[in-house]
Parts: sequence; structure tokens; C-alpha cells
Amino acid sequence: MPKYVFVCGALISGLGKGIVTSSVGRNLQIRGKKINVIKIDPYLNIDAGTMNPFEHGETYVTADGAELDVDFGHYERMLDLEMKAEQNITTGQVYLSVIEAERRGDFLGKTVQVIPHITDEIKARIKKVAKNNKDIDVLIIEVGGTIGDIESQPFLEAIRQLRRETPKEDTALILLTYVMKPPNLKELKTKPTQHAVRELQSMGLTPDIIIARGEQDLTEEAKEKIVMFCDVPANAVFSLPDLDTVLRAPIYLDKQGFGSTLNWILNYENVKANWMEDEKIIEKLLNAENEVTIAIIGKYTRLADSYISIKEALMHAGIANNTKVNVEFISSERFETEEKPFHELLKYDGILVPGGFGSRGVEGKINIIKFARENKLPFLGVCFGFQLSVVEFARNVCNMDKAHTTEVDEKTLYPVIDLLPEQHSIHKKGGTMRLGAHKVLLKKDSIFHSMYNSDFCVERHRHRYEVNPQFIQDLEKQGLHFSGKSEDGRRMETLEYKDNPNFIATQFHPEFNSKPKKPSPPYYYFISRVLKNKQ
Ligand code: GLN
Repeated sequence: MPKYVFVCGALISGLGKGIVTSSVGRNLQIRGKKINVIKIDPYLNIDAGTMNPFEHGETYVTADGAELDVDFGHYERMLDLEMKAEQNITTGQVYLSVIEAERRGDFLGKTVQVIPHITDEIKARIKKVAKNNKDIDVLIIEVGGTIGDIESQPFLEAIRQLRRETPKEDTALILLTYVMKPPNLKELKTKPTQHAVRELQSMGLTPDIIIARGEQDLTEEAKEKIVMFCDVPANAVFSLPDLDTVLRAPIYLDKQGFGSTLNWILNYENVKANWMEDEKIIEKLLNAENEVTIAIIGKYTRLADSYISIKEALMHAGIANNTKVNVEFISSERFETEEKPFHELLKYDGILVPGGFGSRGVEGKINIIKFARENKLPFLGVCFGFQLSVVEFARNVCNMDKAHTTEVDEKTLYPVIDLLPEQHSIHKKGGTMRLGAHKVLLKKDSIFHSMYNSDFCVERHRHRYEVNPQFIQDLEKQGLHFSGKSEDGRRMETLEYKDNPNFIATQFHPEFNSKPKKPSPPYYYFISRVLKNKQ
């Protein structure tokens, strides 16, 4: 069995637990350990697929088709892992299986209770991941939510039991906290952290390591207080202020001795880390020679977290193109009025229309796509952005008046985008889209073939609608080229124009496969076109 490292958060949400969990993992990986990650989400949803991005940030899709939260993106990108559905445990999943077992009669004669039945189910799920990853040394388990939340209590109790059942040197508990400096007091205040630790202790859990987020590093004085009142050794308190890039977080912790403390707790030999590779990437990111600004046209423009994988993929593509990529969010609704502010678009070096759902802002997006295509602006359309590019072309080039996706207009005469056939009989919304990694065959002599340098690619999907096969011939006759198709040839996956190398779009979501050292080919191509166009 692997060793377990648990990561919990205190006081406030939004501290960056996903980044800290990834930083813990990176510190182990860099010392030659194999790791994997579980994320516990104490909400009642089965997964994040049905949540509004406003509330929960983007939905991240894994290769095996799970719809998970943004943290899975952090893990996959920072740790170069390919995660699976079973690595997300939610309260909803746990209760659903216990209740189903009760109905089957698995507990006949017994009263079914939170302890032991729910906690047993939680432990079983953690152990299952451990068993399915036989080659790993450490399984890191991030507990979502904040200490004190009612929802997380069964999980903390399960962790207490697991720690009790495991040799001491085979588990570690890391607490992420927030140390504030009220402006009028000009002094770091550790008391809330002390209370949080006491609350944790009342549940039978004492942290081995405390990481303090805040505007600045902990002072010696603050550190001493935490050591004294929170029952942790002096070498186990670390600072993590806001950094120039989150990629630096693992290194920043290790420079304070984090890696050696973790090695000491887990009874590993104290190997020193060589951060050169990671530092090189950061160096490239921060010292890029070029700078470009991309407009992301969307609906959730108020919340940058809704498009985090896209932002990251643009950043990775920037690193490889020696370019700093700035991102600005534009609400498409302003492009639906009589006077469309198209001149504003010319301020940007490239335009990206991302995935989306529903009718709000759609006409504005279509207007923007038309402007981008006609003016040969560097353009990348993703999923909904791909579908609306087809709608735009059908309307404006193929004279299919009011052509549309049936997601927005069910009665259109030209349903160029329509429900996937298998979707007609599906009524449940959870986990029922076309999801996960699928192979896409790429036509020779196409832009996509050359960017992947291959006859195929495997990319992740999340959609219910697709190009309606009835219209493919008409669209292609007018110059739209579907260069990527599913293996059976039925589903259109990429589009490009022969006379315009600046315009590309994908039905899949390439951003979910992008890593700092391995940028996604469509994003890399997009940024290189942006640069060329600028020059
Ligand atoms: N709403 C579209 C569909 O369901 C696009 C989905 C997306 O952009 N992820 O097919």
C-alpha cells in the first residue's frame, strides 16, 4: 500500500489547496517518488458536471470522461498525471452507494449509520484507488471544503481512522491556513489558525505540517506562535504568499525545507531536489521576448476560473513561442446591438471563442466569428466556438438564412448543428454528454495534420450537439474544410479554410491535454499565427 498524505484547508475557501496539493506532489516526484492524487469534494453532487461555472469554476474533463472540478486540471498540469473518475470522491457518490447497498439488503438487520457505514465506504474508495495504482509510493488526498464545515466531517473521521490503522510514518496531514495582517494592526495574526487546529484536534487529527497563505511570508514571531500553539515541530511551518506564477509554489516551499521535512515525516531518505527543469520553464514564462493579448469571447466573463484550462493552455503555448500571453474577457452580448463595436476587436492579437451552452450571447458570438473570418484575424474556436463557426459560415457564405444549432433554435430550416443521434433518447443531464478522450483522424495536407504531425490525435470531448451530416457536403463545397473526423467518419471534429491559415476550430477541447512542457498543438499553432500576424 502507498503512504497517504492528506491536505486539508482552514478558515477560508479559495486558498489554492489544489496548487498546494500539486506542490506537495511535485516535491515528491522531483525526489523520484511516484504519486497519484485523490480529491474529496464534500458536496452532494455526484460530480461537477451539472454545476454552473459561476459557482464552481470550469468543468474539467478527464480522458476517461469524468466531469470534475478545476483542481483536477491543476494536478494533471503540474504533475503530468492522467487522472480517472474514481479519483474524485463526493458525498453524493458515497451516500448513493451506501443507500443502494441498504436497498439491496447488504446490511440486513443492521442500522445503517454515518459511522461506520459512510466512513467505511469512504475508506474503501480511497483504498481502491491505492490498489488500482500499485506502482505508486504516495497517494495524496485533498479534502475539499474548510475545517468546520458540516459536510466534511465524515471524511475527516474516515481520515482519522485511516491514520490510526496505518503505521505512523506512512501518513502525513498537511493543513493549509491563512494568516492575516489586519491593516490597522500591522501584525500577523495567528489566532484563527490556532482555533482551526484546535477544531481539527477535537476530531482526533493533529497536523504534521502547516502551510500559511497570506500576503507575505510568516515572520519568525508568527512561526513561533504557530509551533507553540498548534503542536507542530519547528521545521514544519511554511509560508506561501502570492507568487509571480503558481508554477513556483513547489520550489518556494522547498527552499524553506518543505521537502526534507516531508521526507522526515514519511521516513524517506533525505534526497535533495534538483529544480533546474522547473526553474527553466518559469524563466521562459517570465522572460518572454514577445507579448500578445487574446480576447476570450464568453458568457462567464466575470469569473476567470470558468476558463482556467484555456488560460493555462494559452500560457503553455506562449512559453513554447517565447511569448507572454495576456488574456482579456469580452462579453459577446455587446455585439448584438445595431452598432457593433468591432473596432474594439482590432485591439487584440487573436480571438478565441470557447465552449459554452444555451442561447445567451450567441448572436454576438456569431457576429464576432464573421468579423474574424472575413478579416482573417487569428482565431481559435473550441467546441461551441467550433459549432458557431459552422453556423456563421452556413448563414453568411452558404446563404442558409437563419441557419442555427438546434440547441438555440429548434425550428430553424437549416439545423447545421444538431443533437448527436444517441442523445435523442437521453433525458438525464448528469454525465450523459459525449465525454472524454476519442480518436480523431486527421486528413493529410491539412493544417491540423501538420500541427499534430500525425494521421490522428486523441483529444477530450464534452458535447451533446455535432455537425449535422446532412449539411456536410454543402458546407464543404463552399470552402469549409472538415480536416478532422471521428474514426467512423461520421462526426466532424476540426475545421479550417484553405485560403485562411489564421482560422481554426475544434469540436474537442484541446486545452485539457496541455502541459507547461507539452503545449497543446492547436493552441501552439494559434499563438504562432498570432505572432506571425502581429509581425
Ligand atoms: N453546447 C454545445 C454542445 O452541447 C457545446 C458544448 C461545449 O462547448 N462544451 O454540444
